[in-house]
Amino acid sequence: MKIVRTIADARDALRGPRGLGKTIGFVPTMGSLHEGHLSLLRRAREENDVVVASVFVNPIQFDDPNDFRAYPRDLAVDAEFAASAGTDLVFSPEASDMYPDGFFTTVTVRELSETLEGAVRGPGHFTGVATVVAKLFNIVQPNVAYFGQKDAQQLLIVRRMVRDLAFPVRIEPCPIVREPDGLAMSSRNVRLAPADRPRALALKAALDAAQTAVDAGERNADAITVRAKAKLAEFGVDAEYCALVDPDDLEPMTRIDDRALLAIAARVGGVRLIDNAILETSRNTR
Ligand code: AMP
Repeated sequence: MKIVRTIADARDALRGPRGLGKTIGFVPTMGSLHEGHLSLLRRAREENDVVVASVFVNPIQFDDPNDFRAYPRDLAVDAEFAASAGTDLVFSPEASDMYPDGFFTTVTVRELSETLEGAVRGPGHFTGVATVVAKLFNIVQPNVAYFGQKDAQQLLIVRRMVRDLAFPVRIEPCPIVREPDGLAMSSRNVRLAPADRPRALALKAALDAAQTAVDAGERNADAITVRAKAKLAEFGVDAEYCALVDPDDLEPMTRIDDRALLAIAARVGGVRLIDNAILETSRNTR
């Protein structure tokens, strides 16, 4: 596995394989790799000739400078993890290479960027995400890029950007990978104090409570989110949002007829966690 630190070196490393017609699978990450990231890389390994991971803590998507500073970084460990999943190339650029002086161009996927995470963190968050993903796509020029359903809104925004701007890349969604107790894996989980760790289970418990309500016949969106929020409260956790929305356009739903996305964000002991689930009315509950 090779590690490159500049845009020029990334382009050089991929020119050969691309010229030979090899397919390139790409997994953009902010590092601090865990099993969630590795599941994307393994999937890329199965489906492509060349697997590229980027490791870049993207400054322009952070609304909170403290969160940016505290974001865990260890390229040597990430490289070992990436190699273990069959990655061929790790691209980890410096911010000065990605955002040189006079960087004036951004990509904004309107509407989808303004709700949920965008409403809490500001729409600039997803402009930062879309801009860096667009730039990474132009550098790596992958055939396929893999994104986790963990960041459901991000996935939707990237898909819309690719469609709207005709990027020649296929976007593959990948399921949420969880700890054995249900906590969705996240690079931020290491910042949870031991005393807060059990409370972090509130989000998954709330998603499960909502699906249980749907299984029991509940179809009213307010009733479903009330059920989820009550479960969060049992853990002493307050949601920043807990919203039942259309999985395709994130519009709020009043009734669930078929499927709906329940998205939750909450702070647990100062650590901001997000989780989500697609609730389904037709699930086989036996
Ligand atoms: P991040 O490093 O947090 O920006 O995440 C990089 C990619 O990994 C994104 O596509 C995330 O959605 C995905 N990812 C992060 N955590 C998980 C998880 N627990 N399960 C599946 N994918 C994940």
